[in-house]
Amino acid sequence: MPLSVVRRISFCAGHRLLGHEGKCAGLHGHNYVAEIEVTADGTDDVGRVIDFAEVKSRLKGWIDEYWDHGFLLNRDDEAAIAAVRSVEPTKVFLFPGNPTAEKMAEYLLEEVCPKALAPFNVRVDKVVLWETPDCFAVAAKGQGQGARG
Ligand SMILES: [Zn+2]
Repeated sequence: MPLSVVRRISFCAGHRLLGHEGKCAGLHGHNYVAEIEVTADGTDDVGRVIDFAEVKSRLKGWIDEYWDHGFLLNRDDEAAIAAVRSVEPTKVFLFPGNPTAEKMAEYLLEEVCPKALAPFNVRVDKVVLWETPDCFAVAAKGQGQGARG
């Protein structure tokens, strides 16, 4: 039977949305919370899907290194990239497209989690990304869409 565990990871990051019609066009930041659901078809001999410490070191570790206290900027956003890079020290993560909550959740699901958890017999089918306490996005793999992949 599939069993899942969820790790909540909090981080702060700045961004802006290129082409946004309103206030998200300006540089600003959020206190984000990612909820990453890790699933396995059973447990290990200890009774775990995966040790929470592994999720912390691998996924929180990745977010801490690349996103936390950094700016996530659209890689086509030359003005914002130049502006942020003009201040040292700074941390910029060039994002493939606009760093919306939806796209950040998708990026964690598709790019980060499979690599970070590759050594384990688990999969991540769902990532929830809270941008504010009231707004979140969900990236989830559809049922029957190659649940092992
Ligand atoms: Zn924002």
